[in-house]
Amino acid sequence: MSKADMGRRYRLYPTAEQDVTLTGWGHTCRTLWNVALEQRRLYRQRGVTLMGGEQCKQLAQARAEVEWIKDLPSECGQRVLANLDAAFLNFWNPDHPAGFPSRKKRGARMSIPFKGQTLVVRKLNRHWAEVKLPKLGWVRFRMSRALGGTIRNAVVSRDGNGWHISFGVHSSRTPDAPNGKPACGVDFGVAASAFVSTEKTPRLMPPTLSRNERARLRFLERRKARQLAYAKKHAGGRYGNRLRKTIAQIAALRTRQANRRQDFTHKLTTGLAKNHGMVGIEDLRVKNMAKSAKGTIGYPGAKVGQKAGLNRGILDNAPGERRRQLEYKCAMYGSKLIAVLAFHTSQTCAVCGKVDPDSRQGCGRLFSCVHCGHEDDADHNASLEIEARARRTGGSVTNSTHSITTVRVPAPCRRRTRETLPATYG
Ligand SMILES: [Zn+2]
Repeated sequence: MSKADMGRRYRLYPTAEQDVTLTGWGHTCRTLWNVALEQRRLYRQRGVTLMGGEQCKQLAQARAEVEWIKDLPSECGQRVLANLDAAFLNFWNPDHPAGFPSRKKRGARMSIPFKGQTLVVRKLNRHWAEVKLPKLGWVRFRMSRALGGTIRNAVVSRDGNGWHISFGVHSSRTPDAPNGKPACGVDFGVAASAFVSTEKTPRLMPPTLSRNERARLRFLERRKARQLAYAKKHAGGRYGNRLRKTIAQIAALRTRQANRRQDFTHKLTTGLAKNHGMVGIEDLRVKNMAKSAKGTIGYPGAKVGQKAGLNRGILDNAPGERRRQLEYKCAMYGSKLIAVLAFHTSQTCAVCGKVDPDSRQGCGRLFSCVHCGHEDDADHNASLEIEARARRTGGSVTNSTHSITTVRVPAPCRRRTRETLPATYG
């Protein structure tokens, strides 16, 4: 069966009764994940690799005995174990950045996976549709755009803004032929969200929260701290209803912020992929860039505060997510994505090609070449340099083969050693 190659996410509106059931299932899925993960760790200590198939048999036994496990549709439990398998396979794959699968905390985003075969979707009117979920019946969702294919799987999740359903969809869409449009290089910066080499001004991300929303967030954070202190002192650390309400209000604001960021990123990457025949980007290692500068007790880091602020800037701009989106959108719209080496792009002159740190005076936005006198916005200069590097590595645009070309940066050996594994593992 052809796989899902596209995602569709809609807001789900369960009834009060369905809400209670879904919340229960969400907690069951989380517990199941944590228990299965712990079991695998214990088996591993005895030198046995336990996988989802074996655990599925045990799950079937547990369903006969435990009421709250029986309540969860069996396919959801099986999907949870299959997802855990996938998490381990990513961890074992030396080319994949995933770390050891982690436990799911109580306050984490809740999600319940379903298989696609059992799901039926029917349209109610122009804007509304409903999906039939096993043991739950019809649940309404806001059909904000067409499905565009056949459903392969679904995940019901709850974040700070309520319930959503994401469908994994198989579209029969074939990628566009090379679109033959001009090439560009993009410098994703911290101050400017993105500087495209063919443009005169940077693309700035609008503030993700308004002034009032930021003030409210600060107010809620202070209230949360106060309520936490109270809970510790008077209630033995037990969360009261007011504290839970504050936490939910903070989560709603943060979700709104994340959604706006995602919206900006999608518009940016769609525009880049649609209007260019080749898009050059820097091959950044986000994980290393955003690493904390804290250091250890023996070796305290320098400029911890500044680095933390920079990290917030980097993550606010979501470089990993931008690249992920560019990868599939470039393939979709007949463009070619080329990731180039990121060394000294900010210190290289786009006109004479000389690399000199003196060309960047201080931390200013101005690039002024000490060799040929070329002056430009530093980020624009970098984007031109990225475009030039992409052209060199990617060949001419007109002859481009229709695929994503990623020039791999020779990364340091990522093979995991015993030291990097958790103490109880391996
Ligand atoms: Zn120069």
